[in-house]
Amino acid sequence: MGIGIDLGGTAIKGGIVDHLGVIQEERMVETQSQLGYGQVLNDLVLLIKELHRLAPTEKTVGVGIPGILSADGTTVVSCPNLFWKNKPLKQDLERALSLEVLLVNDATAACIAEAAFGSTRGRSSSVMLTLGTGVGGGVIINDQVISGAHGVASEVGHMIMEANFYDCGCGKNGCLETFASATALIRYCRKQLAEGAESDLKAAENFDARRIFEAAKAGDSLALAAVNRLARYLGWAIANISDLIDPEIFAIGGGVSSAGEFLLERIKTETKSHLTYPDYAMPEIVLATFRNESGMIGAANLCHFI
Ligand SMILES: [Zn+2]
Repeated sequence: MGIGIDLGGTAIKGGIVDHLGVIQEERMVETQSQLGYGQVLNDLVLLIKELHRLAPTEKTVGVGIPGILSADGTTVVSCPNLFWKNKPLKQDLERALSLEVLLVNDATAACIAEAAFGSTRGRSSSVMLTLGTGVGGGVIINDQVISGAHGVASEVGHMIMEANFYDCGCGKNGCLETFASATALIRYCRKQLAEGAESDLKAAENFDARRIFEAAKAGDSLALAAVNRLARYLGWAIANISDLIDPEIFAIGGGVSSAGEFLLERIKTETKSHLTYPDYAMPEIVLATFRNESGMIGAANLCHFI
């Protein structure tokens, strides 16, 4: 059993997770980030207290954060979604609770959920890539989460691939996120359409990544080029990460991963053709098991991976 919290930009979700990774109780409140840090802190405390009442023997709570944590895991250094900078969240929560509080980056929480109960279970070295509006990453080596000297390891989405036609939200140009997220897919298609590309997407007033994958599967040439481009950059990134740390397995999660085998096969092909030792050291690449609940499940199991 464990208590896990997923602090998101729109909702704070909390769950009691059993030893099989199943959420037994779940609570949710709106994230009132516009009312400031104090309000969100207060709402977090109330939610955790309620869950602790239901699971009174628990000694720790894990909290997944959509931002950067200090290397010692005590402070939220930066969390743009909540407009937070340098907030001593661990100390503030522990003052109000009779529990030890462990903080974790949300992509790392997703990586832990997969390693504990999902697609990478039983593997001591795994990497999780979360493909949504951005690209998140989590790295576990020898059953330990890798957080780095400054707490910012595994920022896979901001590895520079090559120059791109638009800047990343982080301020840099060429980040993986601008090639391999849902946002990247949509922006690439819009740009090609504006430059005169022919596509079924032209008729759609507004299209999302799901629509692009549907068009690609139906043979639309622009949509197919966009999906192949996304898979190519992901393959490069996975090959680069493999050359560096040689993990056993990669899990691909997030909304974009619902494209399934259609996407996965392309990523595997691109990875294999860009690895230095493709015949000897090709990692397994699989779809993640969990979707929206991964933050809670991972946070609840954080104590086993740090
Ligand atoms: Zn970036």
